[in-house]
Amino acid sequence: MSISKDQASASDNYCVPDNHCVIETFELVDTELPAPESSSGWFLTIANGELPTDSHGLLVLWTQAQFDQQFASVKGLVRQSPLFLGLANGNQPCFVAVLDTQPELKAANWVPPRALLPTLSADQYLAVSRGLQLGVWARDHAYCGACGSATEPHSSERAMHCVSCNKFYYPRINPCVITIVTKGDYCLLAHHTRYATDFYSTLAGFIEAGETIEAAVHREIFEEVSVRVKNLRYFGSQSWPFPGQLMVGFSAEHAEGEIEIDGNEIDDARWFHYNELPNTPGTVSISGQLIRQFVEARKAANGEL
Ligand SMILES: [Zn+2]
Repeated sequence: MSISKDQASASDNYCVPDNHCVIETFELVDTELPAPESSSGWFLTIANGELPTDSHGLLVLWTQAQFDQQFASVKGLVRQSPLFLGLANGNQPCFVAVLDTQPELKAANWVPPRALLPTLSADQYLAVSRGLQLGVWARDHAYCGACGSATEPHSSERAMHCVSCNKFYYPRINPCVITIVTKGDYCLLAHHTRYATDFYSTLAGFIEAGETIEAAVHREIFEEVSVRVKNLRYFGSQSWPFPGQLMVGFSAEHAEGEIEIDGNEIDDARWFHYNELPNTPGTVSISGQLIRQFVEARKAANGEL
């Protein structure tokens, strides 16, 4: 942790100090919800879905004093924020504040979170991921979906509460499956229609209501590329804050069928040799981690490691 000595000086207005707060470790904590007024919190700020970075392109968190000073004139704080995120560097409470407007910053920029991902450590990612998800949740659950009354944060649970009809709205998490399909030294990667670049990735999709995770893997792969798979192996999971997916990762072996793309979500899909991969996601995402594990496993199997 490092904080500028002159963090509170008046000349710093809307200017990011070089030595701003830096998350080195981060722990999700939900049992205790300290009020930001009574603590010396650090603040992750989101405006128009973007995050502030310093002149080096690194994520900025503000101290309480910096936050008060920088954003005192911004009236449009979303009504439920700041929201408690967890503890940085052992005992430093962190909060997320969602601004309705995006103030201009000196020597700093607002950047889309996806552009920031490659610069984040695993712990910083955890804080950012949680912050983005809670920010969206608070914005989208300001009113009760059943009776239309205004909700309010519950005093002891991480929930927006409708006092009128006693409904609770918890942060919404959408489970998805993501799978690398393999065939010997080859893996199946697809180009999604939403990608503007020549980027190929593993197959992914939302789990439908009533469906098991395993059934979703089989269905999604067959829908997108018309192949059947076998020998599913659980890989791991990742929280993905765009806007709130829980990605459940698998590897699976090709069982039968030739690739036939659906043409809607996918406009190309091919078998790629592990030594001849196209542009693929970085290992900040579980897709990149699945691909890396496949490549390492094939290299080991072929005596290349
Ligand atoms: Zn209600």
